[in-house]
Amino acid sequence: MATVMTESRAEAYREVIEDRAFPTVRTYKEKTGRAAVGYFPVYTPVELVHASGMLPVALFGGGNQIELAHADSRFQSFVCSIVKSTLELGLTDKLDCFDGMVFHSICDPARNLASVFKRNFPDKPVEFIHFPQNPGSPSALAYLEGEYQRLVGVFGQWSGHQVSDAQLAASIELYDRVRALLRELYALRAASPERLSAVDSYVLTRCSCLLPPEESVPLLEGALAGARALEAKTQDRVRVVLIGAFCEQPPLDLIDSLERAGCYILDDDFQLGTRFLTDDVASAGGPPLRALAESYLNHSVHASVKHDLRKPRAAGLLDKVRDLHADAVIFLGAKFCEPALFDYALYRRALEEHDIPHLFLEFEEKMWLYDRVQSEVETFVESMLFS
Ligand code: SF4
Repeated sequence: MATVMTESRAEAYREVIEDRAFPTVRTYKEKTGRAAVGYFPVYTPVELVHASGMLPVALFGGGNQIELAHADSRFQSFVCSIVKSTLELGLTDKLDCFDGMVFHSICDPARNLASVFKRNFPDKPVEFIHFPQNPGSPSALAYLEGEYQRLVGVFGQWSGHQVSDAQLAASIELYDRVRALLRELYALRAASPERLSAVDSYVLTRCSCLLPPEESVPLLEGALAGARALEAKTQDRVRVVLIGAFCEQPPLDLIDSLERAGCYILDDDFQLGTRFLTDDVASAGGPPLRALAESYLNHSVHASVKHDLRKPRAAGLLDKVRDLHADAVIFLGAKFCEPALFDYALYRRALEEHDIPHLFLEFEEKMWLYDRVQSEVETFVESMLFS
């Protein structure tokens, strides 16, 4: 497949995102003297961390880069991999470059992970964000603005730097720019998937939540310009929307094997937190914390970890399939991920009612062999191309 990054650049960025010793974070800290904060998926208001003078970094577990030697004993066997591998990173000192950790109320395992971290690392600051359980409630906006105010105080204590509204507004503006570029990247891929592979798009998106935003912006701008200038022929492939991998992330080789099996992945929910807010926060108006809260509540994606009765998630998926003129849906869920698997039942019913072909696949982050998945997808693709 045509690729916007040259082989060597893609390989270099891939090494950067896969390196669980976080060399870019360590270098950043040495150069700037600033602190870094790791946050668990799915969504974190990174602006609060950045405005406090620290680097927010998305943590996506150990992938297939580490062996679980210690963390297995702290969790039941039926818990998803990312929870265990994130703890394993901590127990093997890979997270020692982080001066604090942030977790959320997305599911029971993630909630428990925060407590296990506190117990195992008593000297590491750990914070927990309580997002509103009912975003449609009239009290949700004031509640979330208050929760963000509390976090600003916490992050200010961690960094020793109290945040002003002007600093918050500047961080919001910077991350609005990153999110706008990611939206452009996804729009370009949906319109011309021959110009930008899902793997390249994945690597770029992952860089945007690992590197400082000041570095992400030129990286994304350059990649977009390169993809737009690329001459590439369209191939006879099935155009799919992929859904289900919003928290634990599939191995890059697995994404690659889906494409090689004959799919154009027009859209996905990988690393969903990076694209959680759908409009510029600044455009919500008002004080920065209220604008951030307003964006989370009213200008954000459908997500299995945000129970918003005003936005049925299956309807959101159907809209996406229709808007992108997709042929099919691939559900790619992490093993033991309850929020994803519960939603699959809803998606499946809606897709069947609308005669939209779909394929269910399960993954674990430490998978190494993709032949079985690839041949399953090839069979699915052939059944659609030659039916
Ligand atoms: S992968 Fe699913 S179950 Fe595991 S922490 Fe994430 S949302 Fe929770």
